[in-house]
Amino acid sequence: MNLSLPKVLEVPGEFKVEEVRLEASKTALIIVDMQNDFVKEGGKLRVPEAEKTISPIRRLLEKARERNVTVIYTQDWHEPGDPEFKIWGEHAVAGTWGAEVVEELKPREGETLVKKLSYDGFYGTPLDHVLRTRNIENLVITGTVANICVLHTAGSAALRGYKLFIPVDCISALNEFDYALSLRQITFLYRGKLTSSEKIEFR
Ligand code: ZN
Repeated sequence: MNLSLPKVLEVPGEFKVEEVRLEASKTALIIVDMQNDFVKEGGKLRVPEAEKTISPIRRLLEKARERNVTVIYTQDWHEPGDPEFKIWGEHAVAGTWGAEVVEELKPREGETLVKKLSYDGFYGTPLDHVLRTRNIENLVITGTVANICVLHTAGSAALRGYKLFIPVDCISALNEFDYALSLRQITFLYRGKLTSSEKIEFR
């Protein structure tokens, strides 16, 4: 039996995109999985919308660097034969071009790269430790895929007590439903704030 769900659903709630001013020393900018395989032509699991987020993420990255905000990149990072390949096929294989962060957002010396094993950037990684040792309270989360690694990392962060700020022009999904679902979960469930690359100020 097939469950029949309505094809058109209403997105509940309101989605305010707010100006935010965040204390630089207590904030981290997290760039989730902006890797060639997810972003670039020829990538193994390309999200077509992801390329459009490069320049807004770059704008934020520049603001963050100016104010010495902690910058952390996550990289999806799989060994050959990873069980996740049964769902998605091979992608982000350790050491390959596809697993590298896109050229435009290339990490600088001193910025942290977290190689992640699953959708959740905290699972089995030092991310929480890195944030805690720097007394980080606020996370600005950007990247892709909105309803997969961004959402799971955001959820995991919120459950650990971090405050979430999501610039809506800096995340991307495979379709509008998945994008809307991510924003709904982040605002409703995790009480994250929506903002944009232009509306964030670090001070
Ligand atoms: Zn993966």
